[in-house]
Amino acid sequence: MPKIELLVIQPTPFCNIDCRYCYLPNRNSKAVVAPETLANLFTQVFASGWLEDCLSVVWHAGEPMVLPIDFYRDAFRLIDRAKPRELAVTHSFQTNGTLIDDAWCEFFAEAHVNLGVSIDGPKLFHDRNRRTRSGHGTFDKTIAGIRCLRRHNVPFHVISVLSAASMAAPREMFDFYVEEEIERVCFNVEESEGDHVSQSFADSDLDAAYYRFLGEFWRLSSAMPGKIKFIREIEHALQQVVRPKYAPFSNQLVEPFAITSMDWAGNISTFSPELLGLKNARYGDFLLGNINHDALVEMPHRGNLARMLKDIQAGVAMCRERCEYFSVCGGGEPVNKLAENGSFVSTETTYCRVTKMRATDLVLDALERVQQSPSGRTGPSLPFEMPARV
Ligand code: SF4
Repeated sequence: MPKIELLVIQPTPFCNIDCRYCYLPNRNSKAVVAPETLANLFTQVFASGWLEDCLSVVWHAGEPMVLPIDFYRDAFRLIDRAKPRELAVTHSFQTNGTLIDDAWCEFFAEAHVNLGVSIDGPKLFHDRNRRTRSGHGTFDKTIAGIRCLRRHNVPFHVISVLSAASMAAPREMFDFYVEEEIERVCFNVEESEGDHVSQSFADSDLDAAYYRFLGEFWRLSSAMPGKIKFIREIEHALQQVVRPKYAPFSNQLVEPFAITSMDWAGNISTFSPELLGLKNARYGDFLLGNINHDALVEMPHRGNLARMLKDIQAGVAMCRERCEYFSVCGGGEPVNKLAENGSFVSTETTYCRVTKMRATDLVLDALERVQQSPSGRTGPSLPFEMPARV
């Protein structure tokens, strides 16, 4: 039986800005999910028997804050009334931050929303890609939103998409976060997804540049304890490398319905959330049905799910057989395999080389240094599951 861990909901496909690397195909559409569609989704999800004791709901795939606060007050109330009493539901927003004001901050605090703000570092780096439709940089509005969050003591993290320029400037990036009192950071690289072809991926030095950036950023953070409290890429790599033997590990992205995504019109998809809006010659689209007309519990029996799952599992099996990082990765991101290799039935991508392999290398290299005794001899072996790379 499937287990839903994460529900990604597109409240609207519309975004008020137009980043140069955006993959969302309908970001000019001002369509909004209907309350009846949300009610159908949650009624069916709660009745499915596919939940354990908690459910994360992420409002994303468009800019969630273009809708009024009352939209979310009503939606959260609806979910709260429909949910089983013992189920914990958490809400997260991923936002460009340009619309954050006092009223939103009060709402985030009151509703305990987990907040991720997209900012690509200092103005010089951010404004190269994160622009309005008329081509103006959005840094000033985003940083004003972040400062507003800080004034209201609303916890948040940032996601920064790294470019070749910012990757070459770990000190500037670090100083920027410290100056703005940003304590929790996540790094993405500009990916090839959908129709967007990444410029960064064309750079043959990307792996090494990412390794150098992350290593230096980690070193700077360690040298000034208490400033940057969370670096997602390091934390995740450490969790995977330093995990007890036999601890369960699964890759949500390749488990059907572990991540379930719904667009504003009620269409349902699974695996990588980005698949929701994409089309492809082999699969057509990646939709499993519509929550307004179809039964969620019937969707695992759809022919297109079987076809996708067969190919995704074949790709995972190839990864298991060939990749020495499989134990910390679990077979990667289907959407990146499709975008970069043209097929789910494939293994390595630039995306996984950078985000999985180089981040893991960095942590392993640090552990190896720690293992060295002062005399230079190797210390006791680590009681951890180590990837085959070592
Ligand atoms: S790191 Fe890449 S090649 Fe290795 S298991 Fe993950 S997706 Fe497959």
